Amino acid sequence: MPHILITNDDGYQAPALQALAAALSAVGRVTVFAPDHNWSAAGHTKTMHKPLRIDRRAWPDGTPVITTTGTPSDCVGLALLGVVAEPLDLVVSGINQGVNLGHDVTYSGTLAAAMEATVFGLPAIAASQDICAGCAGDLTFAADTVARLARHVLAHGLPQDVLLNVNFPALPAGEVRGIQLTRLGRRIYRDVLIERLDPKGRPYYWIGGDPPAGEPVVGTDVGALAQGYISITPLNLDMTDPAQLAELVTWGLQ
Ligand code: MN
Repeated sequence: MPHILITNDDGYQAPALQALAAALSAVGRVTVFAPDHNWSAAGHTKTMHKPLRIDRRAWPDGTPVITTTGTPSDCVGLALLGVVAEPLDLVVSGINQGVNLGHDVTYSGTLAAAMEATVFGLPAIAASQDICAGCAGDLTFAADTVARLARHVLAHGLPQDVLLNVNFPALPAGEVRGIQLTRLGRRIYRDVLIERLDPKGRPYYWIGGDPPAGEPVVGTDVGALAQGYISITPLNLDMTDPAQLAELVTWGLQ
C-alpha cells in the first residue's frame, strides 16, 4: 500500500486538507504533516535561523496530525529528513483555497511544499481550488479528482524535477467541464502599495489591492479555469531557458 504525505499552506485545520485526507485514504496510507497556522504565499523557504517545533495533534475525527511552526516546505523537509520514519511514495499539497496559476507558483506555499518533495526525488502534486464570493467549489469532487490523479502518478511515476500543479474552478461538480492539460499562463497582478502611519508617526506598508486577474489564453492554466475546466500543468524545477542560453553565447561573455 503506498504511503502518501499530505500537507498544505493554509494550516492543519483547513477543511480542504481533511477532504484531501479522506479521498487519498482510498489510495494509500495517509500521513498528515502540516503547518500550525496559515502560510499562504510563503514561497519555497527553508527555515535556518530559528528552531522548529513539532506537535502531535489530532483532528476532531481522531486522525493523527503532525504540525510544525515551520513553513509548508519545512513540513515536507522535516518529514523526509526523518520525522516521518516510514518511507513515502507521494506528496500531495493542498487543496489550497485560491488558485495557483502562472507566476503564482513562485509565491505559493502550496507549490513550495510539493517542490520540496521534488527536490527530494519524490513525486508530488500541488492542488488548488478557486474561491470567490458566492462561488461553490465542490471540495469532495476536487479531492476525489486529486485521488484519481494520485493513482496515475503512483502507477506511472514522474520524471526527475517534474511535479504536477492542479487547479479546480469554483463550480459545482456538475458544472465542471472536464480536465485540460495546460502550460502556465500569465497572471496580471493588481497589487498596490498602501502606506499608513503608526502611532509614532512612522510609515508602515501593506501590499494590498485586488486579487490577480490573468490572460485567459487557450492552452494555459488561466485559460482552462476561465472556461470552467480543471487544469493540470506539469512543472519542471529546471528553470533554465534554453533559448536564452543560446542567445547569451552570442554576447561574447566567455
Ligand atoms: Mn493558501
